[in-house]
Amino acid sequence: QRSKLASTLQNLDGRSYGNYKQIRGRYEFGPVTVFVDRVQVDPFASPSKVRIRINRAEAGFPTDITTDRADRIAASDFLFRVGNEFLHHSNRRAIILGRPGQEVLERTNVIIDDEGFEARLLVNLPARGRRILGHQAADILTRDVPELAQAMFVHSNLARHSSGHESRDSSGDASGQSSSDGSGEASGHGPDGGLREHVQLHRDQLELQNHLGEEGLLAFIGNGAILPRRSGDSDLPMDSSAVAFTSPSSLEHTVTLSSGRSLTGMAIPRGVTVIVGGGYHGKSTILRALERGVYPHIAGDGREWVITEPSATSIRAEDGRAVTGDDISPFINNLPSGTDTRSFTTTNASGSTSQAANLVEAVEVGARTLLIDEDTSATNFMIRDERMRALIPADREPITPFVDRIRPLFTRRGVSTILVAGGSSAFFEVADHVIGLDAYVPQEVTAKAHELVGVDADDLERSNPDQRTVAGSAGPDNTEHESVDTDESVDSGGETFTTPQPRTPTAKALHPSSKTKSAKAKGLGQVQFGKAFIDLAAVSQLIDPQQTTGIAEALEYMAEIFDDRTSLTEALAEVEDMLDAQGVDGLTGNRDHPGHVARPRAQEIAAALNRFRGLRLVE
Ligand code: ADP
Ligand code: MG
Repeated sequence: QRSKLASTLQNLDGRSYGNYKQIRGRYEFGPVTVFVDRVQVDPFASPSKVRIRINRAEAGFPTDITTDRADRIAASDFLFRVGNEFLHHSNRRAIILGRPGQEVLERTNVIIDDEGFEARLLVNLPARGRRILGHQAADILTRDVPELAQAMFVHSNLARHSSGHESRDSSGDASGQSSSDGSGEASGHGPDGGLREHVQLHRDQLELQNHLGEEGLLAFIGNGAILPRRSGDSDLPMDSSAVAFTSPSSLEHTVTLSSGRSLTGMAIPRGVTVIVGGGYHGKSTILRALERGVYPHIAGDGREWVITEPSATSIRAEDGRAVTGDDISPFINNLPSGTDTRSFTTTNASGSTSQAANLVEAVEVGARTLLIDEDTSATNFMIRDERMRALIPADREPITPFVDRIRPLFTRRGVSTILVAGGSSAFFEVADHVIGLDAYVPQEVTAKAHELVGVDADDLERSNPDQRTVAGSAGPDNTEHESVDTDESVDSGGETFTTPQPRTPTAKALHPSSKTKSAKAKGLGQVQFGKAFIDLAAVSQLIDPQQTTGIAEALEYMAEIFDDRTSLTEALAEVEDMLDAQGVDGLTGNRDHPGHVARPRAQEIAAALNRFRGLRLVE
């Protein structure tokens, strides 16, 4: 009955737009089911919600790569990209599937469940003025949409449409790493080759990330990786002029994964690592690759084997942000105003206080690794030189610079730092490793740096890092892995990194006055929450506008959790548990079509909550 929807739409031709609502419902097109879940009320409203679904048996995908949860994320991502290619090449602009980037994210756009495969579309139903264009609408919904489903979900069609999907390097191995997996079926040329490779790459990336955790390593950059991007506004790899990454021999690490893939590259251990080098020699580029390394990248990106521990968080100065009740006392104390910095609140933080707030908030949510670039840091937060220490007495200077806190942060809280510092030698004496970049080529220069400042590597305080583990998965629950050092006498500055008081938001503050749809993403860098706007422009590991939508949904979800007793980290843990159990669909109230949402990390959800100017804490 291909024609029931078609004839309805044809009959609606020329009638007023509101009549489109009649087409709500469910339609079968061979093996493809089309659900029209929500119909827009006028041509300028947000597009109509349509789902396409196909049963497992009809789709015919191998179950060995579409059953495991992580495999499903990767396979969904692959089919999402196939669908996008199809829409792009066939120029079907009325149908929106969402835009993939260079990372593989968990999203609602395409899902795989036990029964089958489903894509969530947004469709702009066509109009002339406010009149229905019924014949065009029939073409879109009864021809284009089922064709898209066929292209994405019918296994035997996939080979045709997925050609050209793999970017640049069809072997899927731009970083030149060896793969001993030479079997013809799995090499990308069989009917499900592209899908199988996509899933296998994702498996290997997760296995490498787990391996790093087990070995006490924070990050890995494979030899051959292409770190620089094409331009400041493109996330695509730089062209052939890029210098491929090579590890310094002293930090080189080789791992053979269970797939047989063998990887060699630079492994950054726990502790303090400082990246130095002349201006423009590639320091920030490495740090930016590491900050993206918390997400897996697609084949051909150049960062496939840049893998960072999943809780790693970028910390920068962000003056002007609001801060609510943070304990920044390890860094800032004795303010001339007399303000208590154990519960510091401001509507307009300075460079240094904002950076301190960003840091303690990241640690509160379970960051095990901090990524800090001098380019985006407040100098007075980072360092203070000897002459300044001599000129300004300690009791007149509220700031204890990060250089004095970076080691206790590791020994007391188990939080490591990877830091770019080309302008000051101050961090040499606290660094476990110093990596020097020369024309994008890294060398380990630790011995030289330590010699310059008269430090012996063995003198560095290390509270038996072997007893600590870097958890293999992200999330606030990581804090339970912390073994807090009880020895209070080691720290010289007075304020120590004991676990701060949990912060408990009031239930009321999270319920903005306008009740309906209280949180909404505004592009990548902003969330509207009630009447307030939350600025996320400085949150650099927020990478996809759909994650911002996820954050908006998470804020609404958490608003229901807060009850004047639940702390911020407890609420986040609850959100993470729900996401693990139900996927991103669980974030939204819509049971049928959730819209286009991607999973944000707990760190980025917390970042939004912490920047919300209406946040209030229970005393
Ligand atoms: P730094 O932070 O040391 O000043 P950047 O990381 O900002 O340097 O890099 C400076 C420039 O060099 C950027 O335009 C960047 O794209 C480019 N670049 C970085 N790494 C490489 C590389 N491996 N090959 C080629 N160009 C690179
Ligand atoms: Mg730089």
